[in-house]
Amino acid sequence: MERIGVYGGTFNPPHIGHIRGAKYAIDALQLEQLLLVPTCIAPHKAMPENSPTPDQRAEMLEISKGENMQVCDMELRRGGASYTYETLEALSQMYPGKELVLLMGTDMFLSFLTWKEPRKILNMASLGVMYRGDQDELEQIAQQKETLEKLGAKVYLVENPVTAISSTQLRRLLLFRCADSFLSREVGQYIQYHNLYGVAKNYRHLPMEALEQVVVSLLKPNRVAHVLGCRDTAVALAKRWGADPTDAARAGLLHDVTKALDGHLQLTLCNEYGIVLGEFSKKYTKTLHALTGSLVAERIFGENERVVDAIRSHTTGKPAMNTLEKILYVADYMEPNRDFPGVEKLRQLAYTDLDKALKLGLEMTVAMLQKNNQEISPASAEALAFLEQAGV
Ligand code: FE
Ligand code: FE
Repeated sequence: MERIGVYGGTFNPPHIGHIRGAKYAIDALQLEQLLLVPTCIAPHKAMPENSPTPDQRAEMLEISKGENMQVCDMELRRGGASYTYETLEALSQMYPGKELVLLMGTDMFLSFLTWKEPRKILNMASLGVMYRGDQDELEQIAQQKETLEKLGAKVYLVENPVTAISSTQLRRLLLFRCADSFLSREVGQYIQYHNLYGVAKNYRHLPMEALEQVVVSLLKPNRVAHVLGCRDTAVALAKRWGADPTDAARAGLLHDVTKALDGHLQLTLCNEYGIVLGEFSKKYTKTLHALTGSLVAERIFGENERVVDAIRSHTTGKPAMNTLEKILYVADYMEPNRDFPGVEKLRQLAYTDLDKALKLGLEMTVAMLQKNNQEISPASAEALAFLEQAGV
């Protein structure tokens, strides 16, 4: 029986991960055709400014689709929330006598029984699981496969070797102007032409409130409190130590602006910005967000040199730090959401002796890295040696 693949998603925007994954599924499952089905985005979900319309999402798919792929806008035309079983009912009628294979990622597969009408779905379609994952994940998948097969499911497992990137991450990269390598040229041009996702917007020198809004949209939700706490603490310390409170606020807001990008995306950003990295940075990508954050602060947000420098040294420190740099380093460490042994001492020191607070922060970092058998950044070691020599 000939097989038709069904691949749903918001495709907001469609990127090369989608299309390559789709190509891969066509080959691996020998699909005669693959239907790309853009889903409706729930109307109650507040969409950020410059989001594409449903038609624009379908258009972007249309221009990026590959051979044997077809865009099916049935859910968009239906409007409102669509359930997969409803879509499959319609497709079963359109393609009588064909085997429909519903493609999905691991998460969706593992939660399959919580979907609306899972048994109806299994009666109409086979499941194609695109997994990438470790041994743990494989065991969960195997277990779920067994469970579903008892319910009469036909399950195909397809290892997906395509680089994972989510549309959420891609929207961040678009704002940072470094998404090109993840988009087909046509989709990249379409996004520019229609100014989607704020790509043509000028973010330089934003007023404080507008800056906060953009920054919050770029963070993972669980990091927002930390960043706002860091900003408030940096402002308080700036007032105490005679630094510019506005600089402190902006540095605090922006210090983790790229933190949501994982290691390979940090490297992508450096690459796109033409930055050559040292060995330590390539190996320990966790500290890279300080560098990439400073680059974004400078190039995208047009921040001044003082703010940019403070962001650059906020994770590792460096020798001969200026007041704002010390303030941001310490504020990041002690903001109200931080909770670890010694934080109270640090909070006290920060208002009585900023250098000692800085040194304590560096020492605690070094101790923690040693305990976890991790390498200490050369910049931190130099910063400590510098304070030592200055008699702090
Ligand atoms: Fe940070
Ligand atoms: Fe931070």
